Amino acid sequence: MKKFLKILGILILVVAIIGLIYLFRPIASKKVETKAEDPVTDVVLIGGGIMSATLGTYLTELEPNWTIQMYERLDQVGEESSNGFNNAGTGHSGFMEMNYTSEKDGKMDIKKAIDVASQFEVAKQFWSYQVKQGVLGDPKTFINPVDHIAFVWGDEVKFLEKRHAAMIQSPLFQGMEITEDPAVIKQWAPLVMQGRDAKQAVAATRMDVGSDVNYGSITKQLVANLQKHQTFKLNVSTEVTGISRNDDKTWSVQFKDLKTGKSSYVKTRFVFIGAGGAAIKLLQLTGLEESKQYAGFPVGGEFLITDNPAITAQHTAKVYGKAELGAPPMSVPHIDTRYIDGKKYVLFGPFATYSNKFLKNGSQLDLFKSTNKNNVLPMTAVGLENLDLVKYLMSQVSMSDDDRLNELKKYYPEAKAEDWRLSQGGQRVQIIKKEADKPAKLQFGTEVFVSKDNSVSALLGASPGASTSPYIMLTLLEKAFPAQVAGQWNPKLHEIVQSYQQDLNADPALLNRIRLDTSATLGLNYKPRVVGATATQAPASTADKAPANDATAPAEASATQPAVKAS
Ligand SMILES: Cc1cc2nc3c(=O)[nH]c(=O)nc-3n(C[C@H](O)[C@H](O)[C@H](O)COP(=O)(O)OP(=O)(O)OC[C@H]3O[C@@H](n4cnc5c(N)ncnc54)[C@H](O)[C@@H]3O)c2cc1C
Repeated sequence: MKKFLKILGILILVVAIIGLIYLFRPIASKKVETKAEDPVTDVVLIGGGIMSATLGTYLTELEPNWTIQMYERLDQVGEESSNGFNNAGTGHSGFMEMNYTSEKDGKMDIKKAIDVASQFEVAKQFWSYQVKQGVLGDPKTFINPVDHIAFVWGDEVKFLEKRHAAMIQSPLFQGMEITEDPAVIKQWAPLVMQGRDAKQAVAATRMDVGSDVNYGSITKQLVANLQKHQTFKLNVSTEVTGISRNDDKTWSVQFKDLKTGKSSYVKTRFVFIGAGGAAIKLLQLTGLEESKQYAGFPVGGEFLITDNPAITAQHTAKVYGKAELGAPPMSVPHIDTRYIDGKKYVLFGPFATYSNKFLKNGSQLDLFKSTNKNNVLPMTAVGLENLDLVKYLMSQVSMSDDDRLNELKKYYPEAKAEDWRLSQGGQRVQIIKKEADKPAKLQFGTEVFVSKDNSVSALLGASPGASTSPYIMLTLLEKAFPAQVAGQWNPKLHEIVQSYQQDLNADPALLNRIRLDTSATLGLNYKPRVVGATATQAPASTADKAPANDATAPAEASATQPAVKAS
C-alpha cells in the first residue's frame, strides 16, 4: 500500500510538472524570416464567414484599390456557424427575444432590445444597399418575412403584458400587437395552439416586420462579388497557422495549403481574425499583450428539424419562449420557420451540446490548446462561479430523444417523433475575460477586438452575431480606422447605411422611412405607421404575408383579428 501511494504521488507530481510546463509554453507564433521585396497586402481576412465577407465588402466599397486576401480552411466559404443549418437564422431585432428585456424593481428594462433592434436596422440597410448595387441577388435567397412572436403561458403572462407596455413606448417596437386570446394565437401560429390545454393562460406578442435570414447565403454572395474584383483573392482549403509581427511593423500571416501540405506566409498591414469560434485561439498567436486577457468556453447547439410539408405549411413565424430559470441566454427555446436554399423547414431548439471543439469542423483539442498560464485561472474561476451553467449543460447533454420531444411539445403539443430529425448546429465560443475587480467574467455577447496600434482586429463571441454583422463590422471600422471613418469614408458610409450616426429610436419619422425603404427592397412586411399615433388596424393575415417562394402558406389564417391590441 505504501509503495502504491508513493508511486501515485510521483505520478501526480510528474503530471503536475508536465502540466505546468505546458501552461508556461510560448503561445505567440515564431517570427518569420521575410524578404524586403515581399509584396504587402493591405488587408488579410482570416476566415470566410459572414463577418469577414461583410468587412471585405465594406472595405472594397470604401477603398477600391486596397488589396485583400481571404483565407478559409474549409473548401468553401460560409460553411461554419454562418451556414444556414448551423444557426437559427433569426434576424435578431429584440421583438420576441425575452432575454433582451428584464424586470428590475418592478420596472421593465428594454435597453438591450432597443440596441439589438437598432443594430438590425443597420443590417437591413447594408443588405438593401447591396441588393441595389447588384452585389446581393434576389432577397428571397437570403431573407424572408416571418412574424416574430413572443409566447408565454402561466405566470409569465404578466411579464409579457409589462414587457409589451414598456416596448410600445419605443418607436422601434411600434405596431407590436399583444393578445391573450388563444383563438388569435392560433391564427398567428397554429402549431403552437393545436392540442394545447384550453385552461392554460397564454399570451403572445407579434411584430410583422420580423425576418428569417440565411447567413450562409449572404456570405457566399458577398464573397462571390468580392471575387469579381482584381484586388481580392480567396484562398480556400488554406488554414492560418501563425500570425507574427515583422520588424517593419507589418504582420506575417502564416498558412498551410491543406490539399498540398505546403506552408507559406503573406505580409500585411491589417489583419482581421474572423475565424468564428477559433478567433480567440488565433488572437493568442499574435502575442499581443491585450490579447492575453481572453479565454473561450465552447457551447454547441442542436436543433430538431422537419421539412414535412403538412407541418411547414402551418407555420410561418418565429415563436420564442422564455428561458428556464438559470439557463443561459442562448438557450431560449423557439420554434421557427426557416427558408434555406428555396426550401421551407420548421426548426425547434436549441439544445445545448458540449464538446471541446471551437468550430463544428474543429478539433477536440481546441479548448486544451487554447489554455495557457494567462487564462487557466480565469477559466477555473468562471467554471466555479457558473455552476448553474455547468448543471444546465449536464442536463442538456444527458437528454434522451423522448426528453427532446417533450420540450418540443411545450411549443407544438401535437408533435410526433417521426417527423423530426436531430441536426447538429454550430459551436458558439463564449468569451471569458479578465475583469478589473475579479479574476474573470463569462460573457454571452460579441466583442470587437482592435489592438492598441489598430493593426490587428478580431470578432470574439457569438450572440446576437450574424444578424448584426453589418453593425459590428461598422463598429470595427470606427475603432480600427477612426480617421478615415470620420473623414474620407464618412459620405460613403452614409450612402451604405442611411441612418449612420443617427438614433433611429429617437426619430420615428426617419425610422419609418428607413423601414419602408428596406422592407420594399428586401421584400419584408412593414406597414407604414402613423408616427406617434395609436394604430388600431390589425396587420393582414399570415397567409398574405407568406413570401412568394412559400407555396404552403397556412390555410387556417384569416383576416379576422379578435382581441388584439396594437400600438
Ligand atoms: C446554434 C447556433 C445558433 C445561432 N443562431 C443565430 C441566429 O438565429 N441569429 C444570428 O444572428 N446568429 C446566430 N448564431 C450566431 C452566428 O451563427 C454567428 O454569429 C456567425 O455565423 C459568426 O460568423 P463568423 O463569420 O464570425 O464565423 P463563421 O461563420 O464560423 O466563420 C468563421 C470561418 O473561419 C474559418 N476558420 C477558422 N479558423 C481558421 C483558420 N485557422 N484558418 C482559416 N480559416 C479559419 C472557419 O472555417 C469558418 O468558415 C447562432 C450560432 C449558433 C452556433
